[in-house]
Amino acid sequence: MQRETDLDLKRRAARVLPNGVYGHESTLLLPESYPQFFSRADGAYLWDADGNKYLDYMCAYGPNLLGYADPRVNAVAVEQLSKGDAMTGPSPAMVELAEVMTDMVSHADWAMFCKNGTDATTMAKTIARAQTGKRVILVAAGAYHGAAPWCTPRPDGVIAEDRAHIETYAYNDIDSLEAAVAAAGDDLAGIFAAPFKHDAFIDQALPDPAYAKRARELCDQTGALLIVDDIRAGFRLTRDCSWELIGVRPDLSTWGKSFANGLPISALLGSDRAREGAGSIYATGSFWFSAVPMVAALETLKIIRTSGYLEHMISLGETLRKGLGAAASDAGMGFRQTGPVQMPLFLFDDDPDFRIGFAWSEAMLRRGIYVHPWHNMFLCQAMTRDDIDMTITAAREAFDEVKQARATLQPHPVVSAMFSAIAAE
Ligand code: PMP
Repeated sequence: MQRETDLDLKRRAARVLPNGVYGHESTLLLPESYPQFFSRADGAYLWDADGNKYLDYMCAYGPNLLGYADPRVNAVAVEQLSKGDAMTGPSPAMVELAEVMTDMVSHADWAMFCKNGTDATTMAKTIARAQTGKRVILVAAGAYHGAAPWCTPRPDGVIAEDRAHIETYAYNDIDSLEAAVAAAGDDLAGIFAAPFKHDAFIDQALPDPAYAKRARELCDQTGALLIVDDIRAGFRLTRDCSWELIGVRPDLSTWGKSFANGLPISALLGSDRAREGAGSIYATGSFWFSAVPMVAALETLKIIRTSGYLEHMISLGETLRKGLGAAASDAGMGFRQTGPVQMPLFLFDDDPDFRIGFAWSEAMLRRGIYVHPWHNMFLCQAMTRDDIDMTITAAREAFDEVKQARATLQPHPVVSAMFSAIAAE
């Protein structure tokens, strides 16, 4: 496997980019051999800067839903690019996109478009406060809602005032949610919930319908707004808001990543209950009205409505889960696969500092399969049965390799330091 170009880019990046690359796209928290820079992506595959090819189970951390460079989506995007993208105001596609999304998402009566997930979650928080005139926002401890000071997982540069009136509860835990609502008194503005628990580093968990229903009731009783953050899971679980699957309708839902198949757009959808608050806040961005991502979203949503992309991903995901489970048990490895099959997370038993998971992921990477050792992954429509078979074959070899090497595996320096620091807190 060639690495020279990537290593050279990493050296250059260290001089001109903070930490080389920032955020979770940095490979600082990944196995040492993971490439940082990519030069091409097509369908379910990804090529790094040295030309090494991988079957990509990260899908750009979610945006790749149909396949990278999907020709149907690209065609409309390129055509719109020659007509106009960022203009002095939006194109007609904005109205159509709002119509389509509010038709598809049952709870939604209106839509606002922005660029990143953080824009949408931050606007949802502001609208909940504007609508209710109250201050407290509840979020599940450990849930990721973006990188703004009110929600970033890192404390650096954040002051207590940035987090004022942001309180936590435990996901799926009704007692904890009720206690947090009671503590908010008559000052509760909103409750955030991920569609399922998809926090990093720990097993994923599906939502307990009783918890989701209780969150709805508590919002109805207090006048607070219920907000489902569907940025990561949106349209990967169903063709509606994800909590529609358990019969709970939020007042606001946040969307991003995949609904334009990777072109930059995110959305906040809301019900009439939140319309006044939404209309009252000041919200805009230089690129929020760009036409290209909107036509790409319209095309992606058409494919979502009219194709079996979701059933295909679920069917492949079931085969993958079964095949990996069998491979792990044949190798005698304790291997946990959690979350929906089309958004799996893989963790190993007895692996507190992730050294087994890191070694297995590296063994997969050497076989041309890009998996993540601590973040949930994503299947996409472009994956095939052959891709899944290839993954299972590679996994069998990787399990055996790691089992042989187990006694000699070393912890990852940055990850183990991070966990020691958390344990010491
Ligand atoms: N919410 C969730 C659930 C997410 O997964 C993410 C991104 N990983 C965000 C919010 C923030 O989105 P963005 O990175 O586009 O700002």
